[in-house]
Order: sequence, then structure tokens, then C-alpha cells
Amino acid sequence: MTEVTRREILKIGLAGSGAIVATGLGFDVAVAESTKVKQSLRISGATESHSVCPYCAVGCALLTYTRKAANGSVQLLQIEGDPDSPVNEGRLCPKGATAMQLAISPRRVEAPLYRAPGASDWRKVTWDFMLDKIAQNIKASRDATFVTVDGNGNTVNRCEGIAFAGGAAFSSEEGYLATKLMRGLGLVHLEQQARV
Ligand code: SF4
Repeated sequence: MTEVTRREILKIGLAGSGAIVATGLGFDVAVAESTKVKQSLRISGATESHSVCPYCAVGCALLTYTRKAANGSVQLLQIEGDPDSPVNEGRLCPKGATAMQLAISPRRVEAPLYRAPGASDWRKVTWDFMLDKIAQNIKASRDATFVTVDGNGNTVNRCEGIAFAGGAAFSSEEGYLATKLMRGLGLVHLEQQARV
């Protein structure tokens, strides 16, 4: 019978635990290979372009892949972090990682929707209608709730009846513009989504 030395037992043990670790971390070579094939097919022949995430001043670099469809339209296939960028080294925060959805999501609302007071349904309206409606409502609320002097006799000139919340899709510049506009109206209740 062949004798197994203590050193050989250690070697066998280490090799075994290495395999266990690799499996535990999900390193399945077959799956990795098939995924690679799928990905390369998906963007094969696509035009690679460099871009920058529109959402904030960090300026993470993006790679976009597009292809011309048979009808001449440009099809967006993929957006991902640019690994060559010293800013993000291929990574994107959750907001930047949704950049593709901003462009192609079928759930994207492309026209203003309005639900009249007491109504249960939303209806599509024009931008002119919606902008007029927002302006009228802001003026009515501001006129009704504007405070010039507080309880201690201090001049405050503020609007306490309107709050403003910036959306997640705001870029830094849009957030800045909105804040300037709202402060100009005297709003004190302001919130902006910063990084997530
Ligand atoms: S929103 Fe996120 S991905 Fe986009 S530039 Fe800022 S940190 Fe980068």
C-alpha cells in the first residue's frame, strides 16, 4: 500500500479547499464561458462611443453601444461604465447604472398627465396646458401662504405653503436651476435627491 506523507495530505487538503472556495464564489467556468459568448454576440458589430453620465458632477465615464437597424434608426444596445476612466474605473452608482432605462424604458412617461380635482383618471394634456396649470397653482398657493413678518416681528418674506422635491433624474445643473427658482419664490421647504 502506498504511504501518503503528511506534506501530501496537506497539499490534497489545500487543493480541495481551493476548489470549494472557487465554487462558493460562483466561479463556474462553463457558465462564464457561455456568458462571454452571449455578451460578445449582443454587441457584436456595434459602434462603441464614449459618453459621460448626465446625472451629477462626478462625471463618470460611460461606454455606449449602438447599431443601425435595417430601417435606418439607431438602436441603443448597452450602456456601461468605462473601465479606462480614472474617475469611475468602470463602475457606476445605482443612478448612473439606470442610464439606459432613461433612454429606452417602455414605462417612460413621454407626455404630461393630468388628474383633475375629484377625478379618478389621468388624461394626457399638452405641455402648454400643464405649464399654465402649474404656474396658476403656484401663484395661488404662494399668494395665500406668503409670510412677510414672523411671530417675533422679523421680516422673513417666505412662502410656507409650497414644498419642492427634486426628482432622481435631475442633473446637478437642473437641481441648481430649480433651487434658484424656488428660493426666488421664497420657498423654504426644499429637498433634492443627491447621490444614492
Ligand atoms: S450619478 Fe452616479 S454614475 Fe452618474 S456621474 Fe454621478 S456618481 Fe457617477
